[in-house]
Amino acid sequence: MKSYTDTTNVNHFINGQHTAGSSKRHQDVYNPALGSVARQVILAEPADVDAAVAGAKRAFPGWANTPPIRRARILFKFMELMNQHKDELAAIITAEHGKVFSDAQGEISRGIDVIEFACGIPQLLKGDFTDQVSTGIDNWTLRQPLGVVAGITPFNFPCMVPCWMFPVAIAAGNCFVLKPSERDPSAALYMADLLKEAGLPDGVFSVVQGDKVAVDALLAHRDVKAVSFVGSTPIARYIYEQAAHFGKRVQALGGAKNHLVVMPDADLGLAVDALTGSAYGSAGERCMAISVAVLVGDIADKIIPLLAQRAKNLAVKNGMEEGAEMGPVVSRQALERIEGYIDLGTKEGAKLVVDGRGLKVKGHEKGFFTGGTLFDGVTPQMRIYKEEIFGPVLSCTRVKDFAAAIDLINEHEFGNGVSCYTRDGHIAREFGRRIQVGMVGINLPIPVPMAWHGFGGWQNSLFGDTHIYGPDGVRFYTKQKSIMQRWPESTDKGAEFAMPTAK
Ligand code: NAD
Repeated sequence: MKSYTDTTNVNHFINGQHTAGSSKRHQDVYNPALGSVARQVILAEPADVDAAVAGAKRAFPGWANTPPIRRARILFKFMELMNQHKDELAAIITAEHGKVFSDAQGEISRGIDVIEFACGIPQLLKGDFTDQVSTGIDNWTLRQPLGVVAGITPFNFPCMVPCWMFPVAIAAGNCFVLKPSERDPSAALYMADLLKEAGLPDGVFSVVQGDKVAVDALLAHRDVKAVSFVGSTPIARYIYEQAAHFGKRVQALGGAKNHLVVMPDADLGLAVDALTGSAYGSAGERCMAISVAVLVGDIADKIIPLLAQRAKNLAVKNGMEEGAEMGPVVSRQALERIEGYIDLGTKEGAKLVVDGRGLKVKGHEKGFFTGGTLFDGVTPQMRIYKEEIFGPVLSCTRVKDFAAAIDLINEHEFGNGVSCYTRDGHIAREFGRRIQVGMVGINLPIPVPMAWHGFGGWQNSLFGDTHIYGPDGVRFYTKQKSIMQRWPESTDKGAEFAMPTAK
């Protein structure tokens, strides 16, 4: 098994083979903990996208015609291999993304959940049947795959987010072309190797490495029938518009600014743990990270000193080291953007309680590290409140009561995840019903739904009609066909010109 942690270039995986294709352009891939270039990824030209889509199109008839249970058996084998090689894959993720090793293992487990869900495809594809819709006529529905479908994924979950897409797409009989993030491209290739080992026919799963050139080629390609995207909101909106322009199905998940409400009756210890883990875990580079604490009534003065103590004492280290709670952020640009937001917050008048800027980790002085940052007194007019920082920065906003907390959150541009800490069942129930956000946690900080429920935000966190994975995923990657059938006795009644009705 190739480890993908050496210095060789990261290539495409097309027609079951690793290939550099026609690519002449490269991009550096960093080890963020060291701050140095580890290897390079090739960037696809449109001809490489054409080659991947053509291979997928060739593989499609055979794969679509393979009985779902046999497709599921290959996915079972793939799931076994993912479990067996979890640690190697987690090390690849930590080396290119920077998140701590146990967190990388966690994202793989959540990806495996979706593979496990997709193994149930024979049951999931079952259609409806109505006997005798009219005399001698039966009507049933079946769901068939779309053809070649594409996935475009972000850097922050190089295993889990692709797994939100391709296991369901493939299980349903489609051929899948993945364009992973160019910042941490190796996990996709490692999974491609495991899929091949599991017995997946060549062309059913391909990886095209690249940037906007590859994405635009996929969007415009006439043989790509559907596009799943996860990434930032401006790009999600672009993908949604372009894919629709080219007549494709599209689901495009965007950015987030997730709030956690702490009610005055909340268990303080639980709320502090929840805010610390969800704001600073993975250095805040999660679409479900909590970046705003909404502190109701008099809880603010009690909780802020406790949060400050935790933020100051985070174990920030190379993610492969024992005891690391937070690793580096993904790139120098990300570090500058995050620390730029901290400068901005102070200028906007927020109170900087803990300043994570300029953190140096011993032995990793060039690494892309920033510490945990905590702001108090953040107001809805500030850019640090409105915009997604995507780093370990927690903004505290004080509100007078529950109604003000609900209004504040419902006014926000994003609606991905949200959470409420309370001991009051009525408040919890009202929160779940009134909040305009797609995924809600009650006394839970990161409510990422399980594989069989489906994941999706509201507002500008998702463009499209379906959530990703779960039953919506099956619907997205299949089209319904309705068949009406009659086996008439040989009595010729002649043509009927009125709309058929039940007789
Ligand atoms: P990004 O939008 O920069 O990139 C995502 C993908 O789009 C990558 O594959 C990238 O190559 C491609 N891309 C980038 N610029 C493009 C352009 N101009 N035209 C076409 N394609 C382009 O996102 P990122 O920085 O990799 O990931 C972080 C973002 O993803 C955050 O905003 C985060 O909230 C979001 N995210 C959302 C979810 C969700 O479920 N809603 C999950 C994970 C991440």
